[in-house]
Amino acid sequence: MDIKYDAIIVGLGPVGSFMALLLEKQGLKVLAFDKEKDIYQLPRAVSMSDQGLRMHQTLNLEDIYIRNSDAPEGAGFVDANLEFIGDPLMVKGLVTPNGWGPLNMFHQPYTDREMRDKLLNSSCDILVEHELVAFTEESGEVFSTIKDVNTNEIKKVTCTYLIGADGANSKVRELNGIEQEDLNYDRNWIIIDLEVFDDSDLSKIAIQICDPKRIGTYIPTHSPFKRWEFEIFEDDNIEEFSSDANIHKLISPWLQPDQYKILRKAVYQFNSVLANEFQKDNCFLIGDSAHQNPPFMGEGMMTGCRDAMNLSWKIGMKHNYALDRSLLNSYQVERKPHAKFIVENSLGIGLLMEAYAHTPNIEDVPPELVMKGYASFVIPPLDEGIFFKGKSDPSNMSGELFPQPVKYIDEQVAERCDYLLGNNFALVSRSKIKLSDDESSFLTKIGSKIITLDKDMVESNIWMSSMIAEDRIYIIRPDKYVFGSTTEDISLAELIQDLKSRIGFNN
Ligand SMILES: Cc1cc2nc3c(=O)[nH]c(=O)nc-3n(C[C@H](O)[C@H](O)[C@H](O)COP(=O)(O)OP(=O)(O)OC[C@H]3O[C@@H](n4cnc5c(N)ncnc54)[C@H](O)[C@@H]3O)c2cc1C
Repeated sequence: MDIKYDAIIVGLGPVGSFMALLLEKQGLKVLAFDKEKDIYQLPRAVSMSDQGLRMHQTLNLEDIYIRNSDAPEGAGFVDANLEFIGDPLMVKGLVTPNGWGPLNMFHQPYTDREMRDKLLNSSCDILVEHELVAFTEESGEVFSTIKDVNTNEIKKVTCTYLIGADGANSKVRELNGIEQEDLNYDRNWIIIDLEVFDDSDLSKIAIQICDPKRIGTYIPTHSPFKRWEFEIFEDDNIEEFSSDANIHKLISPWLQPDQYKILRKAVYQFNSVLANEFQKDNCFLIGDSAHQNPPFMGEGMMTGCRDAMNLSWKIGMKHNYALDRSLLNSYQVERKPHAKFIVENSLGIGLLMEAYAHTPNIEDVPPELVMKGYASFVIPPLDEGIFFKGKSDPSNMSGELFPQPVKYIDEQVAERCDYLLGNNFALVSRSKIKLSDDESSFLTKIGSKIITLDKDMVESNIWMSSMIAEDRIYIIRPDKYVFGSTTEDISLAELIQDLKSRIGFNN
Protein backbone atom coordinates (compact mmCIF):
# COMPACT_ATOMS: atom_id res chain seq x y z
CA MET A 1 0.00 0.00 0.00
CA ASP A 2 1.89 3.12 -1.06
CA ILE A 3 -0.95 5.63 -1.15
CA LYS A 4 -0.43 8.77 0.89
CA TYR A 5 -3.52 9.67 2.88
CA ASP A 6 -4.52 13.07 4.15
CA ALA A 7 -5.77 11.48 7.36
CA ILE A 8 -5.59 8.08 9.01
CA ILE A 9 -8.06 7.23 11.76
CA VAL A 10 -7.21 4.46 14.18
CA GLY A 11 -10.38 2.89 15.58
CA LEU A 12 -13.85 2.48 14.12
CA GLY A 13 -15.88 2.98 17.29
CA PRO A 14 -18.69 5.56 17.14
CA VAL A 15 -16.23 8.48 17.39
CA GLY A 16 -13.69 7.26 14.81
CA SER A 17 -16.47 6.37 12.37
CA PHE A 18 -18.05 9.81 12.76
CA MET A 19 -14.65 11.50 12.29
CA ALA A 20 -13.89 9.51 9.13
CA LEU A 21 -17.18 10.59 7.56
CA LEU A 22 -16.70 14.23 8.61
CA LEU A 23 -13.24 14.33 6.99
CA GLU A 24 -14.54 12.58 3.89
CA LYS A 25 -17.15 15.35 3.59
CA GLN A 26 -14.32 17.91 3.76
CA GLY A 27 -12.82 16.21 0.70
CA LEU A 28 -9.88 14.50 2.42
CA LYS A 29 -8.48 11.13 1.41
CA VAL A 30 -9.07 9.01 4.51
CA LEU A 31 -7.97 5.58 5.70
CA ALA A 32 -9.79 4.31 8.80
CA PHE A 33 -9.19 0.91 10.38
CA ASP A 34 -9.95 -1.22 13.41
CA LYS A 35 -8.29 -4.23 14.96
CA GLU A 36 -11.66 -5.92 15.44
CA LYS A 37 -13.65 -7.54 12.64
CA ASP A 38 -17.04 -6.15 13.55
CA ILE A 39 -18.84 -3.54 15.65
CA TYR A 40 -18.65 -3.75 19.45
CA GLN A 41 -21.24 -6.17 20.81
CA LEU A 42 -21.37 -5.48 24.56
CA PRO A 43 -23.71 -2.94 26.17
CA ARG A 44 -22.29 0.57 26.07
CA ALA A 45 -23.69 3.96 24.96
CA VAL A 46 -27.47 4.48 25.03
CA SER A 47 -28.03 8.23 25.24
CA MET A 48 -27.62 10.76 22.48
CA SER A 49 -28.12 14.41 23.34
CA ASP A 50 -29.75 17.16 21.28
CA GLN A 51 -26.27 18.35 20.31
CA GLY A 52 -25.36 14.79 19.31
CA LEU A 53 -28.27 14.71 16.87
CA ARG A 54 -27.38 18.15 15.57
CA MET A 55 -23.77 17.08 15.00
CA HIS A 56 -24.92 13.99 13.07
CA GLN A 57 -27.22 16.26 11.05
CA THR A 58 -24.02 17.71 9.51
CA LEU A 59 -23.75 14.41 7.64
CA ASN A 60 -27.52 13.85 7.28
CA LEU A 61 -27.09 10.88 9.62
CA GLU A 62 -29.40 11.97 12.45
CA ASP A 63 -32.06 9.55 11.19
CA ILE A 64 -29.85 6.62 12.13
CA TYR A 65 -30.23 7.65 15.77
CA ILE A 66 -33.82 8.90 15.52
CA ARG A 67 -35.26 5.69 14.10
CA ASN A 68 -33.36 3.56 16.62
CA SER A 69 -34.17 5.58 19.73
CA ASP A 70 -37.01 6.56 22.07
CA ALA A 71 -37.14 9.81 23.98
CA PRO A 72 -37.65 9.34 27.74
CA GLU A 73 -40.11 11.63 29.49
CA GLY A 74 -37.53 12.76 32.02
CA ALA A 75 -34.83 11.78 34.48
CA GLY A 76 -34.59 11.78 38.26
CA PHE A 77 -33.10 10.36 41.45
CA VAL A 78 -35.09 7.84 43.52
CA ASP A 79 -34.63 6.31 46.98
CA ALA A 80 -34.65 2.64 47.99
CA ASN A 81 -38.46 2.58 47.69
CA LEU A 82 -38.21 4.00 44.14
CA GLU A 83 -39.78 7.27 45.38
CA PHE A 84 -38.42 10.43 43.71
CA ILE A 85 -35.95 12.53 45.68
CA GLY A 86 -37.12 16.00 44.69
CA ASP A 87 -38.86 16.49 41.37
CA PRO A 88 -37.60 14.62 38.33
CA LEU A 89 -36.45 16.75 35.42
CA MET A 90 -39.24 16.39 32.85
CA VAL A 91 -38.22 16.93 29.24
CA LYS A 92 -41.12 15.49 27.24
CA GLY A 93 -41.81 17.67 24.21
CA LEU A 94 -38.90 20.02 24.95
CA VAL A 95 -36.96 21.30 21.94
CA THR A 96 -33.58 22.80 22.86
CA PRO A 97 -31.62 25.55 21.04
CA ASN A 98 -30.02 22.72 19.05
CA GLY A 99 -33.45 22.00 17.56
CA TRP A 100 -33.89 18.53 19.09
CA GLY A 101 -35.14 16.90 22.27
CA PRO A 102 -32.45 16.69 24.98
CA LEU A 103 -32.48 12.91 25.58
CA ASN A 104 -32.70 10.17 22.97
CA MET A 105 -32.11 6.61 24.13
CA PHE A 106 -30.82 4.45 21.31
CA HIS A 107 -29.95 0.80 20.78
CA GLN A 108 -26.25 0.91 19.90
CA PRO A 109 -25.99 -2.39 17.95
CA TYR A 110 -28.48 -0.94 15.45
CA THR A 111 -26.86 2.51 15.20
CA ASP A 112 -23.28 1.19 15.05
CA ARG A 113 -24.31 -1.26 12.31
CA GLU A 114 -25.82 1.55 10.22
CA MET A 115 -22.79 3.81 10.81
CA ARG A 116 -20.48 0.96 9.74
CA ASP A 117 -22.54 0.45 6.56
CA LYS A 118 -22.28 4.19 5.80
CA LEU A 119 -18.52 3.99 6.20
CA LEU A 120 -18.22 0.94 3.98
CA ASN A 121 -20.19 2.77 1.30
CA SER A 122 -18.16 5.97 1.63
CA SER A 123 -15.04 6.94 -0.28
CA CYS A 124 -12.91 6.29 2.83
CA ASP A 125 -10.61 3.27 2.66
CA ILE A 126 -11.70 0.96 5.48
CA LEU A 127 -9.74 -1.94 6.95
CA VAL A 128 -10.88 -4.29 9.70
CA GLU A 129 -8.71 -6.72 11.65
CA HIS A 130 -5.79 -4.33 11.26
CA GLU A 131 -3.93 -2.96 14.23
CA LEU A 132 -1.71 0.07 14.62
CA VAL A 133 1.63 -1.10 16.00
CA ALA A 134 3.97 1.88 15.51
CA PHE A 135 4.33 5.30 13.96
CA THR A 136 6.89 8.06 13.56
CA GLU A 137 6.42 11.68 12.54
CA GLU A 138 8.83 13.69 10.44
CA SER A 139 8.56 17.00 8.60
CA GLY A 140 4.76 17.12 8.82
CA GLU A 141 4.24 13.51 7.71
CA VAL A 142 3.23 10.54 9.83
CA PHE A 143 4.57 7.09 8.91
CA SER A 144 2.43 4.31 10.39
CA THR A 145 2.97 0.58 10.68
CA ILE A 146 -0.19 -1.47 10.56
CA LYS A 147 -0.46 -5.22 11.16
CA ASP A 148 -3.05 -7.58 9.71
CA VAL A 149 -4.07 -9.40 12.90
CA ASN A 150 -4.84 -12.65 11.02
CA THR A 151 -1.74 -12.97 8.83
CA ASN A 152 0.69 -10.72 10.77
CA GLU A 153 1.44 -9.03 7.43
CA ILE A 154 2.88 -5.55 7.99
CA LYS A 155 1.74 -2.56 5.96
CA LYS A 156 3.35 0.88 5.93
CA VAL A 157 1.12 3.89 5.35
CA THR A 158 1.83 7.60 5.27
CA CYS A 159 -0.49 10.49 6.09
CA THR A 160 -0.53 14.12 7.08
CA TYR A 161 -2.78 13.69 10.13
CA LEU A 162 -2.96 10.65 12.41
CA ILE A 163 -6.07 10.53 14.58
CA GLY A 164 -6.27 8.19 17.54
CA ALA A 165 -9.90 7.18 18.06
CA ASP A 166 -8.72 3.91 19.56
CA GLY A 167 -10.54 4.03 22.87
CA ALA A 168 -9.57 3.77 26.53
CA ASN A 169 -6.39 1.69 25.97
CA SER A 170 -5.25 3.88 23.08
CA LYS A 171 -2.11 2.72 21.29
CA VAL A 172 -1.77 6.17 19.71
CA ARG A 173 -1.73 7.74 23.20
CA GLU A 174 0.80 5.15 24.41
CA LEU A 175 3.12 5.54 21.40
CA ASN A 176 3.02 9.30 21.90
CA GLY A 177 4.05 8.85 25.54
CA ILE A 178 1.01 10.82 26.72
CA GLU A 179 0.17 10.27 30.41
CA GLN A 180 -3.33 10.55 31.86
CA GLU A 181 -4.64 12.56 34.80
CA ASP A 182 -6.73 10.34 37.08
CA LEU A 183 -9.68 12.06 38.74
CA ASN A 184 -10.07 9.09 41.06
CA TYR A 185 -13.47 7.57 40.47
CA ASP A 186 -12.92 3.88 39.82
CA ARG A 187 -15.87 1.60 40.52
CA ASN A 188 -17.00 -1.71 39.04
CA TRP A 189 -20.52 -1.81 37.65
CA ILE A 190 -22.60 -4.41 35.85
CA ILE A 191 -24.57 -3.32 32.77
CA ILE A 192 -27.61 -5.38 31.81
CA ASP A 193 -29.64 -4.97 28.62
CA LEU A 194 -33.00 -6.73 28.53
CA GLU A 195 -35.53 -7.29 25.81
CA VAL A 196 -38.86 -6.82 27.60
CA PHE A 197 -41.88 -8.65 26.15
CA ASP A 198 -44.37 -6.01 27.27
CA ASP A 199 -42.79 -2.75 28.44
CA SER A 200 -46.00 -0.76 28.75
CA ASP A 201 -45.93 -0.74 32.59
CA LEU A 202 -42.30 0.31 32.88
CA SER A 203 -41.42 3.93 33.67
CA LYS A 204 -40.50 6.21 30.79
CA ILE A 205 -38.36 8.25 33.18
CA ALA A 206 -34.65 7.37 33.50
CA ILE A 207 -33.77 6.95 37.17
CA GLN A 208 -30.66 6.95 39.32
CA ILE A 209 -31.46 4.49 42.11
CA CYS A 210 -30.00 5.76 45.40
CA ASP A 211 -30.53 2.60 47.43
CA PRO A 212 -28.13 2.28 50.41
CA LYS A 213 -27.96 -1.48 49.76
CA ARG A 214 -26.66 -0.87 46.19
CA ILE A 215 -26.92 2.12 43.89
CA GLY A 216 -28.04 1.60 40.32
CA THR A 217 -29.55 3.10 37.18
CA TYR A 218 -32.60 2.28 35.06
CA ILE A 219 -32.83 3.57 31.49
CA PRO A 220 -35.89 3.22 29.25
CA THR A 221 -34.00 2.67 26.00
CA HIS A 222 -35.40 2.04 22.53
CA SER A 223 -38.48 -0.18 22.98
CA PRO A 224 -38.49 -3.19 23.60
CA PHE A 225 -35.02 -2.82 25.14
CA LYS A 226 -34.37 -1.60 28.67
CA ARG A 227 -31.12 -1.08 30.57
CA TRP A 228 -30.25 -1.58 34.27
CA GLU A 229 -26.85 -0.86 35.80
CA PHE A 230 -25.71 -1.73 39.35
CA GLU A 231 -22.59 -1.04 41.37
CA ILE A 232 -20.47 -4.10 42.25
CA PHE A 233 -18.73 -4.12 45.63
CA GLU A 234 -15.14 -5.24 46.17
CA ASP A 235 -16.26 -8.36 48.05
CA ASP A 236 -18.82 -9.42 45.40
CA ASN A 237 -17.79 -12.43 43.37
CA ILE A 238 -18.06 -11.02 39.84
CA GLU A 239 -18.90 -14.36 38.21
CA GLU A 240 -21.73 -15.08 40.65
CA PHE A 241 -22.85 -11.48 40.55
CA SER A 242 -23.17 -11.60 36.74
CA SER A 243 -25.07 -14.90 36.72
CA ASP A 244 -28.55 -14.99 35.25
CA ALA A 245 -29.90 -16.05 38.67
CA ASN A 246 -28.46 -12.91 40.27
CA ILE A 247 -29.68 -10.71 37.41
CA HIS A 248 -33.20 -12.06 38.00
CA LYS A 249 -32.82 -11.01 41.65
CA LEU A 250 -31.55 -7.52 40.77
CA ILE A 251 -34.38 -6.91 38.29
CA SER A 252 -37.13 -8.39 40.53
CA PRO A 253 -38.43 -5.00 41.84
CA TRP A 254 -39.49 -4.23 38.25
CA LEU A 255 -39.99 -7.49 36.33
CA GLN A 256 -40.20 -11.25 36.76
CA PRO A 257 -37.94 -13.55 34.66
CA ASP A 258 -40.75 -14.69 32.36
CA GLN A 259 -41.29 -11.05 31.29
CA TYR A 260 -37.92 -10.54 29.60
CA LYS A 261 -34.90 -12.02 27.87
CA ILE A 262 -31.37 -11.10 29.00
CA LEU A 263 -29.90 -9.66 25.83
CA ARG A 264 -26.40 -8.62 26.89
CA LYS A 265 -24.44 -8.07 30.08
CA ALA A 266 -20.98 -6.71 30.84
CA VAL A 267 -18.89 -5.69 33.83
CA TYR A 268 -16.96 -2.43 33.45
CA GLN A 269 -14.67 -0.48 35.66
CA PHE A 270 -15.96 3.09 35.40
CA ASN A 271 -12.95 5.40 35.31
CA SER A 272 -12.54 9.16 35.23
CA VAL A 273 -9.36 10.08 33.38
CA LEU A 274 -8.13 12.76 31.03
CA ALA A 275 -5.10 12.61 28.70
CA ASN A 276 -2.54 15.29 29.58
CA GLU A 277 -2.27 16.21 25.91
CA PHE A 278 -4.90 15.86 23.20
CA GLN A 279 -2.41 16.55 20.37
CA LYS A 280 1.26 16.29 19.48
CA ASP A 281 2.27 17.87 16.19
CA ASN A 282 0.04 16.23 13.54
CA CYS A 283 -1.22 13.47 15.80
CA PHE A 284 -4.51 13.95 17.68
CA LEU A 285 -6.54 12.03 20.27
CA ILE A 286 -10.34 12.03 20.07
CA GLY A 287 -13.03 10.19 22.06
CA ASP A 288 -12.18 7.74 24.83
CA SER A 289 -8.50 7.82 23.93
CA ALA A 290 -8.51 11.41 25.27
CA HIS A 291 -11.05 11.18 28.12
CA GLN A 292 -13.13 8.61 29.97
CA ASN A 293 -15.86 9.14 32.49
CA PRO A 294 -18.51 7.09 34.29
CA PRO A 295 -21.63 7.09 32.08
CA PHE A 296 -24.01 8.81 34.53
CA MET A 297 -24.40 11.90 32.32
CA GLY A 298 -24.64 9.82 29.12
CA GLU A 299 -22.01 12.15 27.66
CA GLY A 300 -18.88 10.06 26.93
CA MET A 301 -19.54 9.41 23.28
CA MET A 302 -21.08 12.90 22.92
CA THR A 303 -17.81 14.39 24.18
CA GLY A 304 -15.96 12.33 21.57
CA CYS A 305 -18.33 13.53 18.84
CA ARG A 306 -17.64 17.13 19.93
CA ASP A 307 -13.90 16.40 19.58
CA ALA A 308 -14.53 15.09 16.06
CA MET A 309 -16.66 18.12 15.07
CA ASN A 310 -14.05 20.49 16.46
CA LEU A 311 -11.03 18.86 14.84
CA SER A 312 -12.59 17.96 11.50
CA TRP A 313 -13.45 21.52 10.44
CA LYS A 314 -9.99 22.73 11.47
CA ILE A 315 -8.20 20.00 9.50
CA GLY A 316 -10.65 20.51 6.62
CA MET A 317 -10.17 24.28 6.43
CA LYS A 318 -6.39 24.03 6.77
CA HIS A 319 -6.37 21.44 3.98
CA ASN A 320 -8.81 23.23 1.66
CA TYR A 321 -7.74 26.86 2.17
CA ALA A 322 -4.01 26.51 2.93
CA LEU A 323 -4.35 28.12 6.36
CA ASP A 324 -1.56 27.96 8.94
CA ARG A 325 -1.22 25.72 12.01
CA SER A 326 -2.84 28.13 14.47
CA LEU A 327 -6.20 26.54 13.67
CA LEU A 328 -4.98 23.04 14.54
CA ASN A 329 -3.24 24.23 17.68
CA SER A 330 -6.57 25.43 19.05
CA TYR A 331 -7.92 21.84 19.22
CA GLN A 332 -6.53 20.97 22.63
CA VAL A 333 -7.02 24.51 23.95
CA GLU A 334 -10.74 24.29 23.18
CA ARG A 335 -11.49 20.66 23.84
CA LYS A 336 -9.49 19.69 26.93
CA PRO A 337 -11.19 21.99 29.50
CA HIS A 338 -14.60 21.14 28.02
CA ALA A 339 -13.94 17.39 28.26
CA LYS A 340 -12.68 17.89 31.83
CA PHE A 341 -16.04 19.46 32.76
CA ILE A 342 -17.82 16.34 31.50
CA VAL A 343 -15.48 13.95 33.34
CA GLU A 344 -15.82 15.91 36.60
CA ASN A 345 -19.58 16.26 36.42
CA SER A 346 -20.14 12.65 35.38
CA LEU A 347 -18.27 11.42 38.42
CA GLY A 348 -20.10 14.12 40.43
CA ILE A 349 -23.41 12.42 39.64
CA GLY A 350 -21.95 9.13 40.91
CA LEU A 351 -20.90 10.83 44.15
CA LEU A 352 -24.36 12.43 44.48
CA MET A 353 -26.04 9.03 44.11
CA GLU A 354 -23.78 7.67 46.85
CA ALA A 355 -24.54 10.68 49.07
CA TYR A 356 -28.33 10.35 48.57
CA ALA A 357 -28.05 6.64 49.35
CA HIS A 358 -25.90 6.94 52.46
CA THR A 359 -26.74 10.30 54.09
CA PRO A 360 -29.43 9.57 56.74
CA ASN A 361 -31.18 12.88 56.11
CA ILE A 362 -31.38 13.87 52.41
CA GLU A 363 -31.43 17.55 53.47
CA ASP A 364 -27.85 17.11 54.71
CA VAL A 365 -26.45 16.28 51.25
CA PRO A 366 -24.15 19.26 50.50
CA PRO A 367 -25.66 21.73 48.00
CA GLU A 368 -22.49 21.72 45.88
CA LEU A 369 -23.03 17.98 45.36
CA VAL A 370 -26.74 18.46 44.64
CA MET A 371 -25.67 20.95 41.96
CA LYS A 372 -23.80 18.07 40.32
CA GLY A 373 -27.22 16.51 39.68
CA TYR A 374 -29.06 17.59 36.60
CA ALA A 375 -27.63 21.10 36.80
CA SER A 376 -24.51 19.60 35.27
CA PHE A 377 -26.53 18.71 32.18
CA VAL A 378 -26.18 22.32 31.12
CA ILE A 379 -23.15 21.90 28.92
CA PRO A 380 -20.95 25.02 29.16
CA PRO A 381 -19.74 27.17 26.26
CA LEU A 382 -16.20 26.78 24.95
CA ASP A 383 -13.80 29.09 26.72
CA GLU A 384 -10.61 29.86 24.80
CA GLY A 385 -9.64 29.34 21.18
CA ILE A 386 -10.83 30.53 17.78
CA PHE A 387 -13.10 33.26 19.13
CA PHE A 388 -13.04 37.04 18.86
CA LYS A 389 -9.94 38.09 20.85
CA GLY A 390 -9.33 34.38 21.53
CA LYS A 391 -11.74 34.17 24.47
CA SER A 392 -15.41 33.46 25.02
CA ASP A 393 -17.44 36.49 26.04
CA PRO A 394 -21.16 36.47 26.86
CA SER A 395 -21.48 40.10 25.74
CA ASN A 396 -20.93 39.05 22.12
CA MET A 397 -21.98 35.41 22.56
CA SER A 398 -18.56 34.11 21.50
CA GLY A 399 -18.04 30.53 22.72
CA GLU A 400 -21.81 29.80 22.82
CA LEU A 401 -23.55 27.39 20.49
CA PHE A 402 -25.66 29.31 17.98
CA PRO A 403 -29.27 28.06 17.99
CA GLN A 404 -30.34 25.97 15.03
CA PRO A 405 -32.63 27.90 12.65
CA VAL A 406 -35.90 25.98 12.82
CA LYS A 407 -39.18 26.42 10.94
CA TYR A 408 -42.21 25.95 13.17
CA ILE A 409 -45.74 25.23 12.02
CA ASP A 410 -48.47 25.34 14.70
CA GLU A 411 -45.72 25.43 17.34
CA GLN A 412 -44.29 22.12 16.09
CA VAL A 413 -40.88 21.75 14.47
CA ALA A 414 -41.50 21.52 10.72
CA GLU A 415 -37.92 21.82 9.44
CA ARG A 416 -34.44 22.05 10.95
CA CYS A 417 -32.37 24.43 8.89
CA ASP A 418 -28.71 24.23 9.94
CA TYR A 419 -28.03 23.62 6.25
CA LEU A 420 -28.60 27.36 5.77
CA LEU A 421 -25.45 28.00 7.81
CA GLY A 422 -23.43 25.63 5.61
CA ASN A 423 -20.26 23.78 6.58
CA ASN A 424 -17.79 26.67 6.81
CA PHE A 425 -18.04 30.05 8.55
CA ALA A 426 -21.33 31.89 8.21
CA LEU A 427 -22.30 35.51 8.79
CA VAL A 428 -25.84 35.73 10.09
CA SER A 429 -28.12 38.62 10.87
CA ARG A 430 -31.77 39.58 10.95
CA SER A 431 -31.09 42.26 8.37
CA LYS A 432 -29.05 42.50 5.16
CA ILE A 433 -25.27 42.40 5.79
CA LYS A 434 -23.13 45.01 4.02
CA LEU A 435 -19.49 44.06 3.31
CA SER A 436 -16.54 45.85 1.74
CA ASP A 437 -14.96 44.28 -1.37
CA ASP A 438 -12.00 43.05 0.68
CA GLU A 439 -14.23 41.49 3.31
CA SER A 440 -16.38 39.90 0.69
CA SER A 441 -13.35 38.49 -1.12
CA PHE A 442 -11.87 37.01 2.09
CA LEU A 443 -15.17 35.44 3.12
CA THR A 444 -15.69 33.95 -0.35
CA LYS A 445 -12.15 32.54 -0.35
CA ILE A 446 -12.88 30.57 2.84
CA GLY A 447 -16.25 29.34 1.57
CA SER A 448 -18.42 31.40 3.96
CA LYS A 449 -22.14 31.94 3.70
CA ILE A 450 -23.84 35.30 4.26
CA ILE A 451 -27.36 34.85 5.59
CA THR A 452 -30.27 37.07 6.43
CA LEU A 453 -32.56 35.06 8.65
CA ASP A 454 -36.21 34.92 7.77
CA LYS A 455 -38.30 37.04 10.20
CA ASP A 456 -40.69 34.15 10.90
CA MET A 457 -37.83 31.78 11.57
CA VAL A 458 -36.48 34.12 14.22
CA GLU A 459 -39.77 35.10 15.81
CA SER A 460 -41.33 31.63 15.96
CA ASN A 461 -38.21 30.17 17.60
CA ILE A 462 -38.01 31.14 21.27
CA TRP A 463 -34.26 30.38 21.43
CA MET A 464 -33.45 32.35 18.31
CA SER A 465 -35.62 35.33 19.23
CA SER A 466 -34.23 35.56 22.76
CA MET A 467 -30.58 35.12 21.76
CA ILE A 468 -30.26 37.20 18.62
CA ALA A 469 -30.29 40.92 19.06
CA GLU A 470 -32.02 42.94 16.34
CA ASP A 471 -29.07 44.88 14.99
CA ARG A 472 -26.18 42.45 15.42
CA ILE A 473 -24.19 40.40 12.93
CA TYR A 474 -22.96 37.01 14.17
CA ILE A 475 -20.03 35.05 12.81
CA ILE A 476 -20.79 31.35 13.25
CA ARG A 477 -18.04 28.74 13.08
CA PRO A 478 -18.42 25.52 11.05
CA ASP A 479 -19.22 23.61 14.29
CA LYS A 480 -22.02 26.12 15.04
CA TYR A 481 -20.23 27.85 17.92
CA VAL A 482 -20.33 31.64 17.76
CA PHE A 483 -16.98 33.23 16.84
CA GLY A 484 -18.35 36.60 17.95
CA SER A 485 -20.90 39.24 17.12
CA THR A 486 -20.95 42.93 16.48
CA THR A 487 -21.92 45.02 19.51
CA GLU A 488 -21.90 48.74 20.31
CA ASP A 489 -18.14 48.32 20.85
CA ILE A 490 -17.24 45.78 18.14
CA SER A 491 -17.60 46.63 14.45
CA LEU A 492 -17.99 44.06 11.68
CA ALA A 493 -14.62 45.14 10.27
CA GLU A 494 -12.91 44.38 13.61
CA LEU A 495 -14.65 41.03 13.85
CA ILE A 496 -13.59 39.98 10.35
CA GLN A 497 -10.01 41.23 10.82
CA ASP A 498 -9.71 39.20 14.03
CA LEU A 499 -11.14 36.11 12.33
CA LYS A 500 -8.55 36.45 9.53
CA SER A 501 -5.64 36.48 11.93
CA ARG A 502 -6.97 33.74 14.22
CA ILE A 503 -7.42 31.21 11.43
CA GLY A 504 -4.07 32.18 9.88
CA PHE A 505 -5.37 33.55 6.58
CA ASN A 506 -2.40 35.11 4.79
CA ASN A 507 -3.30 35.54 1.13
C1 LIG B 1 -21.82 1.23 30.30
C2 LIG B 1 -21.53 2.42 29.48
C3 LIG B 1 -22.56 3.26 29.11
C4 LIG B 1 -22.31 4.39 28.34
N1 LIG B 1 -23.34 5.21 28.01
C5 LIG B 1 -23.10 6.30 27.25
C6 LIG B 1 -24.18 7.11 26.81
O1 LIG B 1 -25.33 6.83 27.12
N2 LIG B 1 -23.92 8.19 26.02
C7 LIG B 1 -22.64 8.51 25.66
O2 LIG B 1 -22.45 9.52 24.98
N3 LIG B 1 -21.60 7.73 26.05
C8 LIG B 1 -21.80 6.64 26.82
N4 LIG B 1 -20.78 5.83 27.17
C9 LIG B 1 -19.43 6.15 26.70
C10 LIG B 1 -19.23 5.67 25.27
O3 LIG B 1 -19.58 4.32 25.12
C11 LIG B 1 -17.78 5.88 24.88
O4 LIG B 1 -17.41 7.20 25.19
C12 LIG B 1 -17.62 5.63 23.39
O5 LIG B 1 -17.81 4.27 23.07
C13 LIG B 1 -16.23 6.04 22.95
O6 LIG B 1 -16.14 5.83 21.57
P1 LIG B 1 -14.73 5.78 20.87
O7 LIG B 1 -15.05 5.60 19.43
O8 LIG B 1 -13.90 6.91 21.32
O9 LIG B 1 -14.02 4.48 21.49
P2 LIG B 1 -14.42 2.95 21.36
O10 LIG B 1 -15.88 2.80 21.19
O11 LIG B 1 -13.78 2.26 22.51
O12 LIG B 1 -13.73 2.48 20.01
C14 LIG B 1 -12.33 2.34 19.90
C15 LIG B 1 -12.04 1.41 18.73
O13 LIG B 1 -10.62 1.39 18.51
C16 LIG B 1 -10.21 0.07 18.20
N5 LIG B 1 -8.77 -0.05 18.51
C17 LIG B 1 -8.16 0.00 19.70
N6 LIG B 1 -6.82 -0.10 19.57
C18 LIG B 1 -6.57 -0.22 18.25
C19 LIG B 1 -5.38 -0.37 17.48
N7 LIG B 1 -4.16 -0.39 18.03
N8 LIG B 1 -5.49 -0.46 16.13
C20 LIG B 1 -6.72 -0.43 15.54
N9 LIG B 1 -7.88 -0.31 16.22
C21 LIG B 1 -7.81 -0.19 17.56
C22 LIG B 1 -11.10 -0.79 19.07
O14 LIG B 1 -11.21 -2.11 18.56
C23 LIG B 1 -12.44 -0.03 19.02
O15 LIG B 1 -13.28 -0.49 17.99
C24 LIG B 1 -20.99 4.69 27.95
C25 LIG B 1 -19.94 3.83 28.30
C26 LIG B 1 -20.20 2.70 29.05
C27 LIG B 1 -19.07 1.79 29.41
